[in-house]
Amino acid sequence: MSKVTTFYENVERSFDKAATYTRFPEGLLEQIKLCNSVYKMKFPVKTGGNDVKVIEAYRVQHSHHRMPTKGGIRYSIHVSQDEVMALAALMTYKCAIVDVPFGGAKGGIKISPRNTSPALLEKITRRYTAELIKKNFIGPGTDVPAPDYGTGEREMAWILDTYLTLKPSEVEGYGCVTGKPVSLNGIRGRTEATGRGVVYGLNEIVSYKDDMEALGLSTGLEGKRIVVQGLGNVGFHAANIITEYGAKVIGVAELEGAIYCEEGLNIKKLLKYRKTNGSIIGFPGSEEIKGENAGLEIDCDILIPAALESQITIKNADRIKAKIIAEAANGPITPNAEEVLLKKGVMIIPDIYINAGGVTVSYFEWLKNLSHVRFGRMNKRFEEYTQSNMLDVIEKSTNKNISKRERSSVVRGASEIDLVNSGLEDTMIEAYQTIREAKRKNKITDLRTAAFYVSIVKIADAYGSMGIFP
Ligand code: NAD
Repeated sequence: MSKVTTFYENVERSFDKAATYTRFPEGLLEQIKLCNSVYKMKFPVKTGGNDVKVIEAYRVQHSHHRMPTKGGIRYSIHVSQDEVMALAALMTYKCAIVDVPFGGAKGGIKISPRNTSPALLEKITRRYTAELIKKNFIGPGTDVPAPDYGTGEREMAWILDTYLTLKPSEVEGYGCVTGKPVSLNGIRGRTEATGRGVVYGLNEIVSYKDDMEALGLSTGLEGKRIVVQGLGNVGFHAANIITEYGAKVIGVAELEGAIYCEEGLNIKKLLKYRKTNGSIIGFPGSEEIKGENAGLEIDCDILIPAALESQITIKNADRIKAKIIAEAANGPITPNAEEVLLKKGVMIIPDIYINAGGVTVSYFEWLKNLSHVRFGRMNKRFEEYTQSNMLDVIEKSTNKNISKRERSSVVRGASEIDLVNSGLEDTMIEAYQTIREAKRKNKITDLRTAAFYVSIVKIADAYGSMGIFP
């Protein structure tokens, strides 16, 4: 029987496999692979009356090869040092792949956000932030958290407020955290960025005829049958946006079970239904799929696990019927399961590439905070005037009238959301092309190894430029 490895060991295993394709010295590879700083903390919070609860929390900075470090904060009862270290390491490789100039980090608080009141969550978040400040583990130039599993805009706003209260005169203070509400200098498009990035990535991946033919699929997202696990931030937006490309979400799995509908589920209505009824089961027009994690086994073209790590294991890998698995969640497939899937010919799109949309737009948000200006503010009008003038010239020289409708469809300066989405789409396309090319050039057989290879080369290059290593 094969040994059960931890999440962090799994990440190291992927790294080691990719490292064999490089010729870097052992010491350099070790420096890239290991976690630079691990901060484990325990602090008390009053839970009402005289009751006190001791909270366990972490912040791990995996790599200082570029500063600041960057990575989300997770609230979950399963948080452990191993998990946070694994997620921090993935952040380093992710940032390198999409050319986001940060080292990787991650934070976690061992609590169940579902069973904790908002007032207590706020208290814990603020105290956690204060602990990070005490040890210099947060700041626009040192370490910049963001949302992850169990956290969102609300938690980021509490972190920001605590930071600004304790560091009131820091001119770049707003850049201490990303994923903030737009009203607190967040950026438009960040909430849906990870899910949107998944779709931009998939749209590029399915455009290669040879790759799709090898899987027995046609090119394009149009008509593709999708199953999503986890209807949270990443899963909901990925599912919702992919339907705009003509794909059908035929299955959704959540904590309470899974549902199926061959005609395609209306994702917005499904989310509303879950909010009202506390469950996706019983959604009109769908049928329940019974069995533990059975949703993952629905026959489909693309499976998008968007919940948590270690969902596809050696126990269920041979029952997975999807042709493509896009790892929207971090680490949803264990290495042993991956071996089984690859043997079956499944195309696995690795987390360090496909869910990098979140950190990409977080980077844009950080840039916005440092520059103190909204993207598009300076040039939107100017672009519109230039386009309009050009149409006037065309009208005059061709002696042809351009209608108001035609004019308004052409004359449009880019707004913040246009620029964010354009930057995100370009990032996801370019990164995939780089990974695909590295795979081909080095005769690597799977995309995860190719993605790790690309990261290692880029990080080693950064160390080389610093003159630290040859
Ligand atoms: P979230 O808390 O918003 O949503 C997660 C959803 O998964 C919840 O609805 C939860 O009920 C569901 N879930 C949990 N266990 C499940 C199970 N066993 N089966 C089915 N559903 C289950 O979290 P999120 O921010 O969407 O993050 C999801 C994953 O994506 C995590 O692995 C996270 O690390 C990764 N990720 C998130 C971001 C981001 O920007 N939020 C960025 C990159 C990667």
